[in-house]
Amino acid sequence: MARSAGIHHITGIAGSPRRHVEFYTRVLGLRMVKRTVNFDDPSTWHLYYGNETGAPGTALTFFVWDHLPAGRPGVSQAVETAFAIPESSIGYWTARLVEKGVPHDAPEKRFGETLIGLRDPHGLRLELVGSRAVAAEPGWAGGDVPVEHAIRGFFGVTLWLENPAATAKVLTEVLGFVAKASEESRQRFAAEGPLGAIVDLRNVPAAFAGSLGPGTLHHVAFRAAGDADQAAMADAVRRLGLRPTDQIDRRYFRSVYFREPGGVLFEIATEDPGFTLDEPKASLGTALKLPPWYEERRAEIERALPPLE
Ligand code: ZN
Repeated sequence: MARSAGIHHITGIAGSPRRHVEFYTRVLGLRMVKRTVNFDDPSTWHLYYGNETGAPGTALTFFVWDHLPAGRPGVSQAVETAFAIPESSIGYWTARLVEKGVPHDAPEKRFGETLIGLRDPHGLRLELVGSRAVAAEPGWAGGDVPVEHAIRGFFGVTLWLENPAATAKVLTEVLGFVAKASEESRQRFAAEGPLGAIVDLRNVPAAFAGSLGPGTLHHVAFRAAGDADQAAMADAVRRLGLRPTDQIDRRYFRSVYFREPGGVLFEIATEDPGFTLDEPKASLGTALKLPPWYEERRAEIERALPPLE
């Protein structure tokens, strides 16, 4: 079977972009690797943050939907996005979050690793996990965080589910994840890694109903090495009685979407061509990039977008 190498990107919803951009670039030290529009609604921003190139496994992206009321995390959602930092950087980050006034929890242990829970300006739940496996991965050296402490990319994501069994089947039979240990209400699944290799399924009662809006996640995308692997995974989705979309051109990758049985929107995205498709690596994320089919409406689109800085 085709196996996913893990998470490709995670997409959340943001409200007003001003504090948001500052938080992800200046406080967390990620690079804005693409500023574009939501291809399904070009009057709204789609912003991408990641490592130097926004490589698969590092890209957290946001639809800026400031017209929506705040969302609420709950069952049938991906809730916590975990970033990987070197194990030795937990102390640095604890001090940094205090200094920057970021709401966060005391460090805790999960499956033997230390993590810090924190919130972005719209209340989105993030985690920094001290990981033994990522010190050699490249962090973004051009940000405000010293490169030895920089976020390397994703550690993983936690889904909140009323009945995790059917979702577990998608992870193992479609994406090739392997079941690992359980701890309290949480079951861990892993791909090969090292970045974005973890999906935790957290069993929560149906009473924890959520709603989509700023401060919540929209979908989780998993990596496919190319079109053939993606097609094989889409076939596996169909074999489970689920309905994947046709392949959709997202310009920086090609995507297939499906709603997994627990209610979370999943995407399978190709690793190519990536964000250097339409601008050089040195200037990624500095100019509004539009797909060719929107270029002729550029002036109108630029006028409609709220300012970022
Ligand atoms: Zn996506």
